[in-house]
Amino acid sequence: MPALSEVIAALEALWPPERAEQWDAVGTVCGDPDAPVGTVLFAVDPVQEVVDEAVRLGADLVVAHHPLYLRGTTTVAAHTFKGRVVHTLIKNDIALHVAHTNADSADPGVSDALAGALDLRVTGPLVPDPTDPHGRRGLGRLCELDPPMSLADFAERAAGRLPATAQGIRVAGDPARTIRTVAVCGGSGDSLFDQVRESGADAYVTADLRHHPASEAQQHSPLALVDAAHWATEWPWTEQAAAQLDEISDRHGWGLRTHVSRTVTDPWTAHAASSGHNH
Ligand SMILES: [Zn+2]
Repeated sequence: MPALSEVIAALEALWPPERAEQWDAVGTVCGDPDAPVGTVLFAVDPVQEVVDEAVRLGADLVVAHHPLYLRGTTTVAAHTFKGRVVHTLIKNDIALHVAHTNADSADPGVSDALAGALDLRVTGPLVPDPTDPHGRRGLGRLCELDPPMSLADFAERAAGRLPATAQGIRVAGDPARTIRTVAVCGGSGDSLFDQVRESGADAYVTADLRHHPASEAQQHSPLALVDAAHWATEWPWTEQAAAQLDEISDRHGWGLRTHVSRTVTDPWTAHAASSGHNH
């Protein structure tokens, strides 16, 4: 079995920590570099349900997309929910490693996995990383939808291909509009509206769209919006990442067992369709 330090070195080659945004907190949260690793669990959120799943699986390492501590802390006491996560991990000899914005901008990255889940053909990054000579890294992806289809059908595809959540898929725009080009951004994407408009994409698939940015985008242009649950737009990355580590494990003869958490950790747990009168 490889040591944790060897597995982490392989993960950091996929998602170099120095490519994370300045404000981000990526890397290894806990774990003994010399501990052997046999089983790895991939998940979006390092929350208690996921850590409990890791314990049940006998996992030695959890690889999560979201940071546990984004802004630092002065306590990991178990009366705090994050401290409880740290205690559960350490008591069960489980390491935690985070790849967040460094996984967003990677090639392949979080938005490549989202595009793949929707059967879109990626043509390039939405916001290219100027340090990438190959022009493939960066935030978001521009894609082609082949064959083109109506916004209504494309939204149905998103609802069927992304993992089920209470939110489902919210759509803005003419349902009959033909969609040929699609911009995608896994996670919260409303900061990229300017780049989406400049790209001329017919539709934008992302999460967490707020009233004002979405309303203004609709007033600017006929851009169609497809808004999924944040967790659902990033979950395809966990399958992509597990496949990447499987390939590395095969190459090194490590014999790692990788698992992808199917626990829905989106915080929204119910959806009631509106039925009230509009006064
Ligand atoms: Zn996210």
